[in-house]
Amino acid sequence: MGATLRPQQARLIAEINQAIAAGCRRIMVQAPTGFGKTVVAAAIAADILDNGKRAIFTVPALSLIDQTVERFYQNGVYDVGVIQADHFMTNYARLIQVASVQTLQRRQIPRTDLVMIDEAHRWFDLYPDWMNRPEWKNVPFIGLSATPWTRGLGRHFDKLIIAATVSELIEAGYLSAFRVFAPSSPDLSKVRSVGGDYRDDDLSKVMDQSGLVADVVDTWIERGKGRPTLCFGVDRAHAKNLQQKFTAAGVRAEYIDAYTEANDRAAIARRFHSGETEVVCNVGCLTTGVDWDVRCIILARPSKSEMLFIQMIGRGLRTADGKDDCLILDHSDNHLRLGFVTDIHHDKLDDGRERQKAEPKAKEALPKKCPKCAFLKPPKTPICSACGFKPEVKSKIQNKAGELVEFAARGARKPIDRGEQAIFYAELKHFATMREFKSGWIAHKFKDKFGTWPPHDFERLPPAKPTVTTLNWIRSRQIAWAKARGAAQ
Ligand SMILES: [Zn+2]
Repeated sequence: MGATLRPQQARLIAEINQAIAAGCRRIMVQAPTGFGKTVVAAAIAADILDNGKRAIFTVPALSLIDQTVERFYQNGVYDVGVIQADHFMTNYARLIQVASVQTLQRRQIPRTDLVMIDEAHRWFDLYPDWMNRPEWKNVPFIGLSATPWTRGLGRHFDKLIIAATVSELIEAGYLSAFRVFAPSSPDLSKVRSVGGDYRDDDLSKVMDQSGLVADVVDTWIERGKGRPTLCFGVDRAHAKNLQQKFTAAGVRAEYIDAYTEANDRAAIARRFHSGETEVVCNVGCLTTGVDWDVRCIILARPSKSEMLFIQMIGRGLRTADGKDDCLILDHSDNHLRLGFVTDIHHDKLDDGRERQKAEPKAKEALPKKCPKCAFLKPPKTPICSACGFKPEVKSKIQNKAGELVEFAARGARKPIDRGEQAIFYAELKHFATMREFKSGWIAHKFKDKFGTWPPHDFERLPPAKPTVTTLNWIRSRQIAWAKARGAAQ
């Protein structure tokens, strides 16, 4: 009986068996990507076979059928048939059936002794209907998901088993560590929401602006190059545009979506693993069932959904030879909104009774952005572990003579944030250098922004690449200036 189980996997199976022995028939298992839940499912199937019984394993996507069968084979489970349209492995005599939900909806479901529902956060009307039929009442249904937080799931399951958390798996070395940079922050103030998440059409308009798209490409070239990368866009137009902008910048990028043919998809996967393709842009169709060796994730798709967020990040957390960590370039503010994936927990299923709204997280519990390099630091860590930047004690600076002086504009109501000014100055300097502007331009723009000339010691600051916000500000001043000049003539 093939599979050698890790201790955590063996413990999970024992827990499931105990729950069944105690009379539970509707069990939800939460196990992060990388836990090896298909291996666990194969072990359960092997047990069923040993007892001469039958089981069905359902999957929500066609692409998961063959992958599951393969996994079962690898773990010594061979008595497998497939229920999916006219799949060549169709054979109802087999004791284990791997079934597509879509096909099951249209067929008589064969009697079995156990049902496993893969990716159970993707909930179908078939499931409650099936579970409530009298002849299935006493048959155990086991849901498997990394994120079983779909609204109302708690009404269908009487037990939740949390097999492991993401941080446990990272600590144990089964998942890769990760580092996050948040180079740009989109302005989502005008984006409407629907069903608990942002509306794609509004979101696409905001995220598809040239400044943001260019920043995605520039940031990746600067920080991500050399890492096999998945980039998540908002919709097809946005993801395609990202791919084109990558290509225009000389990056070998491809595009994939739910309509990409299976053989094209396989070819893309092959080029991705050979290094021929550097970046694959997609629209979220790669969130489940893809076990590519991904070492950089670009989030260009803002979301309020913890499930979508975790599924996207999950693509980058598989371990691989020579992989130290996964680099996450977050252009969506998802981390500033939802926290790190390792901080997202729910100890019960949503019973649908009251809207368990994603309450805005307490500010203190959220990561903080390093003002210098945009690295996301865990809460309460003042010094940036990526660049060593240490924020200055507010409104106090060391002057040339080495003494501490209070730095506040006289008469100003709030003290000037010298850190913010320094960053802005450094960004202007970068812009001016690139465009070969005269140095007076920097001082004038600085005064334009802060109402005061820059302190002399700022001249020694090294230039820093401007953020999109700063670039937009500069552009807006240029437009205002052009307009004013036009009016004067
Ligand atoms: Zn930093």
